[in-house]
Amino acid sequence: MKTGLSTNVLKARRDSRIKNLSGSKAFIEGSLKEIKVKCGNPNCRCANGEKHTSHILTRKVNGKTKSVYVPVGMVKEVEKWVEEYRKIKTKIREITEINEQIIRQHVKVNRAVGKNLKHLNQQQQT
Ligand SMILES: [Zn+2]
Repeated sequence: MKTGLSTNVLKARRDSRIKNLSGSKAFIEGSLKEIKVKCGNPNCRCANGEKHTSHILTRKVNGKTKSVYVPVGMVKEVEKWVEEYRKIKTKIREITEINEQIIRQHVKVNRAVGKNLKHLNQQQQT
């Protein structure tokens, strides 16, 4: 028989992860993408095909892609925000998985208690 962790151990593990989440830094949902653009100036090198590099941050909102222009001076900072969001997402997933285990364990315990009660009732009736 597989012996799982006790509910108390799981809860302690979950709570330490929740505490850990509060130490999170600034974050943003989305992916940073490099795009090539023309600035519109007909005398610029980009008019001859040598396009400028620009950055946008995109994310899906109700199935539509929303994008925001990221100025070059902010790219490094926004990269960090995106990375932080990824870390938080991983932590949230871990907390969810632990809570799923807690739910499953609760169901198991209740079932065992229910069986015992049934058994007791049957004994009393006979
Ligand atoms: Zn240009």
